[in-house]
Amino acid sequence: MDVVLLGPPGAGKGTQAKRLAATFNLLHISTGDLLREEVGKGSELGQQAASYMQKGELVPDDLVAKMLVTRLHSQQGLAGCVFDGYPRTRAQAELLDGLLAELGRRVDVAVYLEVPDDEVVARLGGRRSCPSCGAVYHLRTQPPARDGVCDVCGSQLVVREDDKEEVIRQRLAVYRTHTEPLLELYGGRGVLARVPGQGTPEEVFLRLADAVRGGRER
Ligand SMILES: [Zn+2]
Repeated sequence: MDVVLLGPPGAGKGTQAKRLAATFNLLHISTGDLLREEVGKGSELGQQAASYMQKGELVPDDLVAKMLVTRLHSQQGLAGCVFDGYPRTRAQAELLDGLLAELGRRVDVAVYLEVPDDEVVARLGGRRSCPSCGAVYHLRTQPPARDGVCDVCGSQLVVREDDKEEVIRQRLAVYRTHTEPLLELYGGRGVLARVPGQGTPEEVFLRLADAVRGGRER
């Protein structure tokens, strides 16, 4: 069984994908982790990827696909994969279809973790960072002992550029533009499940697990 987990930044995909992988005996594949691993190992693919990353460019789809192939073949004893935050575009979805088809597999269920923009802004926008020591806080979930002051070193906390509301909303707009065609693609095949991403991580996980079970029975 192969599962695609879609959702905006800040939806908690990484944590949920790990739990789904453990529960359903799947290999958790995050292309971000995959890239960092290959670069870290200094493999040929990793070196090619690094040359793009150093220039601040996106790693081309076909290079990521080559890394995916290697990984897909390494999942012995597992029931399939959960793809975390991949594909992001229609072109990547078609690449993934091709890779899976070569193995006689397909995307069995695509789960879309739905989190309203305002909730994402509240989650990501609540982050406060220490410019001196790098400690990260969250106004809601992990506030510093003293307002605006780093517990570790006493510096004044700041909102990083990436965590500013207008930047988050811009990222969300880009995300939705790219994701809409994926929702149509998987929706058209009847494999799309929309799961509300609000509530505790535990509540969200139970909904996701139900959606994946539903996909397995299809
Ligand atoms: Zn600090």
